[in-house]
Amino acid sequence: MNLSTMVELAYLVSAVLFVVGLKRMQSPATARPGNALAATAMLVAIIATLVDNQVLDWTGILIGIVVGGGIGAVAARTVKMTAMPEMVGLFNAFGGGASALVAAAEFVRLHHAGMTMDTGTGITIALSMLIGAVTFSGSIVAFGKLNGMVTGNPVTFPGQKPVNALLFLAILVLGVGVAGVLALGSLTPLSTFWIFSGLALLLGILLVIPIGGADMPVVISLLNSYSGLAASAAGFIIGNMVLIISGALVGAAGLFLTMLMCKAMNRSLANVMFGAFGQSGGTAAVGSGEKKPVRSVDAEQAALVMAYAQSVIVVPGYGLAVAQAQHELKKVMDLLSDRGVDVKYAIHPVAGRMPGHMNVLLAEADVSYDRLYDLDEINDDFKNTDVVLIVGANDVVNPEARNPDSVIAGMPILDVDYARNVIVVKRSLSPGFAGIDNPLFYLDNTMMFFSDAKKAMSDVVKEVREA
Ligand code: NDP
Repeated sequence: MNLSTMVELAYLVSAVLFVVGLKRMQSPATARPGNALAATAMLVAIIATLVDNQVLDWTGILIGIVVGGGIGAVAARTVKMTAMPEMVGLFNAFGGGASALVAAAEFVRLHHAGMTMDTGTGITIALSMLIGAVTFSGSIVAFGKLNGMVTGNPVTFPGQKPVNALLFLAILVLGVGVAGVLALGSLTPLSTFWIFSGLALLLGILLVIPIGGADMPVVISLLNSYSGLAASAAGFIIGNMVLIISGALVGAAGLFLTMLMCKAMNRSLANVMFGAFGQSGGTAAVGSGEKKPVRSVDAEQAALVMAYAQSVIVVPGYGLAVAQAQHELKKVMDLLSDRGVDVKYAIHPVAGRMPGHMNVLLAEADVSYDRLYDLDEINDDFKNTDVVLIVGANDVVNPEARNPDSVIAGMPILDVDYARNVIVVKRSLSPGFAGIDNPLFYLDNTMMFFSDAKKAMSDVVKEVREA
């Protein structure tokens, strides 16, 4: 077997491992080994590429591996759970930027060599540059919005949509030129290519600035899909099969995830992209301002209600992640389990601020996967449940979603208000991400436990032990 056959074979193995790894990420129980498989696939692909005889400069490659690997390792170890979406945003930017650089390098190489290109290569160069540049600049803006460097509010200006449309038209016209569709046999001047690239970068910025900071996780998932498409196009340019396949997988997976997130919020992608919803602070439309009575409890009362219950369902939300209360929560639930209480966790698909946020958080605290139930699996159980313990969740349990006039009308929610008792742990009556009041807090079967989630859970641990 010659070297090139071995390299092709290694690429095939790597592609299969990517597919199997992705498939295993469908369930939290197999996600870790799935991730390990995908990482192995990447290693195989990198080694195959390096042993292929096309590497020109080993020093550059080694510096890249050390610097890139070092930054990745430090980022992965130090990033806070709540900052994961912005880190993913930044990494998407790098992915898009890399594909754009591959396109630029190939176009410049052809120019300097005085060569021409076929239309297929031309189209992939134009697509890789366009999608890569939009992903790069759009992701940098998304990253800035999430970490506060750029305002989280939607940035709009008069005539924004026509400006975007004109820009898109200009990019299309220049793109046809760059791809060489109309000028077979001669390359478009480099200056046209650079203007095309600059406009693509501008488009990425203009597409993301009108979107509210709180919608950034959906945008990041979409940009993640774009970065895959850009990589796939780059794969066509350099004739690399594994890059084409892995890019297409990222593109498809990112698109599915985006659609799932939109469905779980009952919003269309168009509404997320152009609706200027979720203006980061979430202060709009908070009730009528009148003071309504709520029933509040302390750690001792909450512990007693749960300790003498037969069934408890926990609903975790964004506040659990903010407070980092997952370990204390697990202790409470273990104590209740030991007392014979039937304990389950109800996971809403968009609880928290990124897909799978609650799964990752609970996995960190070693909560067993078989205790986690999806919305569809558990919604019928609430009416037969003694106590629902809501920790830092708000929108995902807001019965207002059943009101057709509400901003969140139609958003699938966990039907916690049907349970016999509901304990809500949060610091105040303030709203969640959607910025609307939650009538659940004022129901007769609801008890408000006003506290930081971590402190609340560690106090309840002591009380359950004494109960
Ligand atoms: P919410 O944002 O609706 O509510 C979180 C609640 O946590 C707040 O009301 C806050 O109340 C409370 N909280 C904050 N800090 C603490 C703390 N230290 N201790 C205790 N409580 C705290 O969260 P949900 O998880 O219910 O809903 C997620 C929302 O995010 C949905 O609207 C969803 O559409 C949206 N979203 C989710 C995405 C995803 O991928 N998961 C992506 C984009 C949007 P208080 O200040 O009173 O403590």
